[in-house]
Amino acid sequence: MKITIIGTGYVGLVTGACLAELGNDVFCLDLDEKKIAMLNSGGIPIHEPGLAEIVSRNRAIGRLRFSTDIEASVAHGQIQFIAVGTPPDEDGSADLQYVLAAARNIGKYMTDFKVIVDKSTVPVGTADRVSAAIQAELAARTPTAEALAFSVVSNPEFLKEGAAVEDFMRPDRIVIGCDDSSEGQQARTLMTQLYAPFNRNHERTYWMDVRSAEFTKYAANAMLATRISFMNELANLADKVGADIEAVRHGIGSDPRIGHSFLYAGCGYGGSCFPKDVQALERTARGYGQELLILRAVEQVNNNQKHVLGNKIVARFGEDLSGKHFALWGLAFKPNTDDMREASSRVLLRELLDRGASVAVHDPVAMAEAKRVLELDFATTPDVLARLHFCETQMAALQGADALAIVTEWKTYRSPDFELVRQHLKAPVIFDGRNLYEPTVMSEIGFEYYGIGRSVLTRK
Ligand code: NAD
Repeated sequence: MKITIIGTGYVGLVTGACLAELGNDVFCLDLDEKKIAMLNSGGIPIHEPGLAEIVSRNRAIGRLRFSTDIEASVAHGQIQFIAVGTPPDEDGSADLQYVLAAARNIGKYMTDFKVIVDKSTVPVGTADRVSAAIQAELAARTPTAEALAFSVVSNPEFLKEGAAVEDFMRPDRIVIGCDDSSEGQQARTLMTQLYAPFNRNHERTYWMDVRSAEFTKYAANAMLATRISFMNELANLADKVGADIEAVRHGIGSDPRIGHSFLYAGCGYGGSCFPKDVQALERTARGYGQELLILRAVEQVNNNQKHVLGNKIVARFGEDLSGKHFALWGLAFKPNTDDMREASSRVLLRELLDRGASVAVHDPVAMAEAKRVLELDFATTPDVLARLHFCETQMAALQGADALAIVTEWKTYRSPDFELVRQHLKAPVIFDGRNLYEPTVMSEIGFEYYGIGRSVLTRK
């Protein structure tokens, strides 16, 4: 099938590449000329396991194209995926300017029936706004093109960064919202055909109305964020009452009504989705006169949790950290990605550097992106930035540090040679923001160890 992807970011590139891999003829559009030039010259703008191979294979045989030509992109696909960003507006609501610009372009250039698929995460009611934007462009054309038919479908994306190709190719579920007009039925037929390869083993598609599909994506992310904040809040209490949050996690996760997934305590969630989607859902509710009290707390708990390592470090070393030197392992907001959006590492670095410390950092993949982002974060204070050092290896980052802080649970940090760690550090002190190590073992081998919600196990 002929597919157009509008917006070649994380979601657009993965969607386009995976659909091409399944035999579709895919045209990826982006307005970012640098990104398109990079993709056309064999580069990949993001780190995502397995993606580079799929992109290069399909680009080589002409089944996956990258372009900035809007008119050609509209002409290409009968199905047009909108996968542009929906960043938070100043008031926390989703900024729909990119989605609506993409819709207007479709209305400007389409000449035959199109199915427009909202893959971006968009608030309930956005499909109606996309329809209205297209319809207005059709009406404004000379001669008017009002009679051209189209259907707007909601097909939210549930892939996880770091496992995006795997998630896209083996989805738990495919949510599609269509209306029941004749165009909606036509859209349903085309979407059924497009997703048929994913449903061979068993049916994974959940068909619903458009608004419910839009809502489902926010509900999913809000639920996941809630589980994380819930565990983080309990972990902080566990530290006070003398309980081990990991034991509690196993104890509750074994209940099938609760399950084990997404119950890890840590130093807060980040990324391009949870923070903005929780805010956007709260904002939507407020627009309808309803306050989402649980989500307000989820957001607040997460904002506080990003300070948990900083607070533990200050409790140990004092408010003034000038002259102190720390090592930090893990910069990306989670493992297997180089995405630094809303990463907890940025909050901790701000705290340590502003208090006068110097910090040596390491990340196995996100160094280049981290440099770019942190230079912007500290653009107005170059003297502070000068105390931040990027290290090629995780061991080099430890050299002479008063303590190590771990922010991202990359595999390479899970089982280091602790003897070597001790030799490199000035003092054997570890602040583990992801509970990677066993506190009792760490105590036994002579480390002063601070986890999240586990202090009972290190108490003398
Ligand atoms: P991104 O910022 O990585 O990519 C968006 C791309 O769209 C950019 O390359 C930008 O240049 C391009 N763009 C903007 N306006 C355009 C236009 N009018 N025409 C063509 N291209 C345009 O964003 P992302 O992380 O891929 O997220 C896209 C959407 O998918 C968001 O709504 C996000 O919430 C949602 N989502 C993201 C993830 C994720 O893990 N990143 C997962 C599920 C859903």
